[in-house]
Amino acid sequence: MEFKKLAEILSEIESTTKRLEIVDLISKFFKTVGDEIKYTVYLLQGKVAPDYEGIELGIAEKQVIKVLSVITGKKEDFINQLLIKVGDLGQIAEDLLKEKKQVSLFSEELTITKVYNNLLELANKSGSGSQLRKQQLLQDLLQNADPLEAKYIVRIVLERLRIGLADMTIVDAIAIAFGKKEDADIVERAYNIHPDLAEIAYIAYTRGIDGIKSIKITPGIPVRSMLAERLPSLEEILQKMGGVCSMEYKYDGLRLQAHKIGDKIKLFSRRLEDVTEQFPEIANEIREFVKAETAILDGEAVPYNLDTGEMLPFQAVSQRRGRKYDVYEMAERIPVVVFFFDIIYKNGIDLTMRPYPDRKVELKNSIKEGSLRIRLAKNLIVSRTDDAEKFFNEALEAGCEGIVAKNINENSIYRAGAREYLWIKYKRDYQLEMQDTVDLVVVGAFSGQGRRAGSYGALLMAVYSRQDGTFKTVCKLGSGFTDEQLDNLPRLFQKYILKERDPRVESQMIPDFWIEPHFVLEVKGAEITLSPIHTCCYGLIKEGSGLAIRFPRFTGRWREDKSPEDATTEDEILEMYHSQKKKIIQDNPG
Ligand code: ATP
Repeated sequence: MEFKKLAEILSEIESTTKRLEIVDLISKFFKTVGDEIKYTVYLLQGKVAPDYEGIELGIAEKQVIKVLSVITGKKEDFINQLLIKVGDLGQIAEDLLKEKKQVSLFSEELTITKVYNNLLELANKSGSGSQLRKQQLLQDLLQNADPLEAKYIVRIVLERLRIGLADMTIVDAIAIAFGKKEDADIVERAYNIHPDLAEIAYIAYTRGIDGIKSIKITPGIPVRSMLAERLPSLEEILQKMGGVCSMEYKYDGLRLQAHKIGDKIKLFSRRLEDVTEQFPEIANEIREFVKAETAILDGEAVPYNLDTGEMLPFQAVSQRRGRKYDVYEMAERIPVVVFFFDIIYKNGIDLTMRPYPDRKVELKNSIKEGSLRIRLAKNLIVSRTDDAEKFFNEALEAGCEGIVAKNINENSIYRAGAREYLWIKYKRDYQLEMQDTVDLVVVGAFSGQGRRAGSYGALLMAVYSRQDGTFKTVCKLGSGFTDEQLDNLPRLFQKYILKERDPRVESQMIPDFWIEPHFVLEVKGAEITLSPIHTCCYGLIKEGSGLAIRFPRFTGRWREDKSPEDATTEDEILEMYHSQKKKIIQDNPG
């Protein structure tokens, strides 16, 4: 199919904020694209492969400007000036091609397949001479593109498509296109255990919803992590668990999903990025100490002093992220221990539908004794609040954040990608005023004044709404930043500043700068209150009011391990608001 049709869809998605309209639009489109569906889904997501493959397009703005200059005959300097003014090379490409008007006699029509193949080849090029070849591949596309096509090709190639299309919107569209609306749950389950929507769409197209049902966990492909709910007291947790549960230490590090496929090891982060190269010593010990031909284990990697047996602050492990070169040196300087708490798959068998106690036995049987760097998470079956409290305090003393309580009844399956009450976390912070910290997404910034002139005075922060894939504002955040952090913010955010509000953001406040949802910050507040200006939970508690976090403060922790869609959700804020009210009543009876 012509790429032009896809460019038109992208443009339509960009111009509406109504999720249902978008679902309708793309589900209809999916029905017409035939076997180009896979490429269509990748391009709609602005990528050429699923995130866990780590394939990056890797072309710089400078190179795109070179190509645009060749095609339009405009000087590179001139395009650079435009970029400073307009801020979006995609828009500039569209405008310049519109000006150019006459179409080259030799231009061929672009198809979705042609665009995808060129981009994939471009992404795979590395090493000497690769920059030139990348430019040629891009030029080959832009030469044949009309203005609208050029806009989106340039944005995709720069990995800045920014149309705000949530994964769950694509899930719904696949269900509607190849089954019915109610099949969205089936598509979502497939996505949770095989997070490649393009592949799922292709299977739905070729084999229908039944085909989707047969998608299985595959070692080497990450499974979306199961997450924990929270409750304000150990007593309530025990009650919710039916009087008895397993409590585990809540280690404070990085979630790590380990895949063993024979001798091959793959490690994935919570965001499902492949982080194998960053933890070579962990990979080695898994190879040596995991007793299975194939296995998928779930755990937390914690910085650890191997001499004293002490856990180190979380920040130490984040220093190891993103470093590709000095990994062995880092492994020595900041040793890491992985505490495994679950097993998802073993020797060809999917264990997700098995209850927690069975999985725990499997896990224990799968790890040989004697490993320094891979261990089992500590746990205890508890049924009394005082035992729970003792265990919680022991966890804190050991350097953990708190505990995660786990349901042990026969329905205690591993729910990939879900945050439910089968797991409930309870942290040290809950004993302070506001229960728990929250992870909020930066969606805007306000110019600073006085000492903060030239930087930002405050950031507009939002939660994520799973229901409609939007970001809703919940507070203005101005405290907790060091001077150095403040000075750095404009540079850090520069690439993400938008001319207009991102279509996924719902806000009544108008900040001085809109910022594309990308950065997730950990925030601690005093309490959650009703607010007429914030859009989080708007109208849910009281007409004309949303919920806001009072006295928010940045804890200093950038949640790089979370994508904006992993941030605290609107539902969680609602839950926290209710349990805060309950606690006030409990603490002040009568
Ligand atoms: P938080 O910010 O509280 O760490 P989160 O949003 O990253 O939470 P949740 O699922 O809400 O993730 O909380 C559980 C997290 O705690 C897991 O993602 C995991 O990284 C970590 N963790 C540490 N120990 C355990 C454990 N024993 N069982 C489950 N998760 C654990």
